[in-house]
Amino acid sequence: MRIDIISAVPELLKGPLDHSIVGRARKSKKVEIVVHDLRSHTTDKHGKVDDYPFGGGAGLVMTPQPVFDCIGSLKKERSYDAVIFPTPDAPVLDQQTVNKLSLLGNIIILCGHYKGIDQRIRDELITLEVSIGDYVLSGGELPAMILVDSMVRLLPGVLGDAESALDDSHQDGLLSAPVYTRPAKFRGLNVPAVLTSGNHEKVRLWREEKALQRTREIRPDLYRKIINKSN
Ligand code: SAM
Repeated sequence: MRIDIISAVPELLKGPLDHSIVGRARKSKKVEIVVHDLRSHTTDKHGKVDDYPFGGGAGLVMTPQPVFDCIGSLKKERSYDAVIFPTPDAPVLDQQTVNKLSLLGNIIILCGHYKGIDQRIRDELITLEVSIGDYVLSGGELPAMILVDSMVRLLPGVLGDAESALDDSHQDGLLSAPVYTRPAKFRGLNVPAVLTSGNHEKVRLWREEKALQRTREIRPDLYRKIINKSN
């Protein structure tokens, strides 16, 4: 997989892309991630990538020219399966969408700023819009990182134990069961006995039951979906 991220503040992306699972995936060439500075594509002599909104109102809007030029030059080099714009006025990202995206080859992510981006960019260039939640951040860099991390951890060979991603919350529509590690007794608090019993079938059933119980309590919306599906 190759991911091109276009940003007017590329410095924001440096740390998160270089460490932990994403950093290791890049080093071992499981994913190629290239960050592009939008300002290097503007023809404005002051390096501006924004302007006042037509019709008035507060805030600035990202102009089409640098974005069209940057994406145009990337598309000359290779074809892209998706051009993604993270934005709060879009459907909220979920695990099923992430699973599908992780199977793609080449992806562009465009980070917005200010009031957002000129609608013509969205109409002409963007193929997928996703929100990371019903709240507003200052820029698209954190949402882009969330997208990248959620996709990259699913790529073959990235997680030490491939099974690990499969029993995470949301993969089967449920929240995950609680997890414990050593010591079995800590400050008088015991790990549930079934987890140290060595009985794999009992452990599986316990996890299934806890996953259902936690989903019902914490996310009744997800629980209802599961119940409706199985009826
Ligand atoms: N005026 C826009 C609106 O009301 O929908 C919000 C613009 S926001 C201040 C600037 C940029 O941050 C957006 O263009 C987007 O790229 C990013 N952003 C902010 N919140 C986001 C969210 N919840 N999900 C995805 N991207 C978000």
